[in-house]
Amino acid sequence: MSSDNLKGKSALITGGSRGIGKETVLSLAAAGVDVAINYHNSDQAAQKTAEKAREFGVRAEIYKADVSKEDQAEAMVENIQSDFSHIDILVNNAGITRDKSFLKMTKMMWDEVLGVNLNGPFLITHALLPSMIDSGWGRVINVASVVGQTGNFGQANYSVTKGGLIAFTMTLAREVSRKGVTVNAVAPGFIETDMTKDIPDVALDGVKAMTPLGRLGKPEEVAAAISFLAGPDASYITGQVLPVNGGLYM
Ligand code: NAP
Repeated sequence: MSSDNLKGKSALITGGSRGIGKETVLSLAAAGVDVAINYHNSDQAAQKTAEKAREFGVRAEIYKADVSKEDQAEAMVENIQSDFSHIDILVNNAGITRDKSFLKMTKMMWDEVLGVNLNGPFLITHALLPSMIDSGWGRVINVASVVGQTGNFGQANYSVTKGGLIAFTMTLAREVSRKGVTVNAVAPGFIETDMTKDIPDVALDGVKAMTPLGRLGKPEEVAAAISFLAGPDASYITGQVLPVNGGLYM
């Protein structure tokens, strides 16, 4: 398999049913990548995403699993590896929020967010990385967030996971880049998905006012950055965090 062309490669996108994950599935599928689509609850949305991906002539399969649960994460990776024989690109995208100011935040809210946003990438990457190293080529792309770089009121749990993913990205890049596996992150700003749909307009107006581009981002714009990091033009980029934030943080 040539490393200068994504056609014929295979990717696992966690949380690929909706939002940024869905658009990443479609962007990679458009580049000729076969896609394994993980999701947790949204069966219909996952099926629709897979159908759309297949329109690009690639293989697309869906895998229901909670990435925070060790048994489910490992069984899913095993199934995917037997279905696809090899995964070249991993996008650790699945994520949740449980927002509250710190003193009102419960231990359960803390644990749930760390479970999905940090333990998930640990479990999935741990299971997939050996085969990438064996083949001498791989791409790991972690979906962090601007709030992992700046912090955010009401998001102690979420910000910790996104800052942690950035540190994970740099550490893993130091460990595996010589083996042909690059590891990078994207750090989106505020993006129009289900995750941000309940943020009050007044708060979003504040975000827009602080954003040089003056608007929220679209999931397609994050997906494009992820596909770039997966693709041949990013071959000398590793351990980096690519901001996709409209200039909100620079
Ligand atoms: P979203 O629209 O809420 O979609 C979340 C996705 O994650 C869904 O596909 C969901 O699956 C999946 N998911 C949630 N819990 C899971 C679990 N335990 N196991 C497996 N999959 C799970 O969110 P989004 O805005 O696209 O966010 C995607 C990523 O971007 C997240 O890591 C988020 O933190 C990050 N991000 C988002 C923004 C933003 O403004 N939207 C900004 C910065 C970073 P189901 O559909 O089955 O529930």
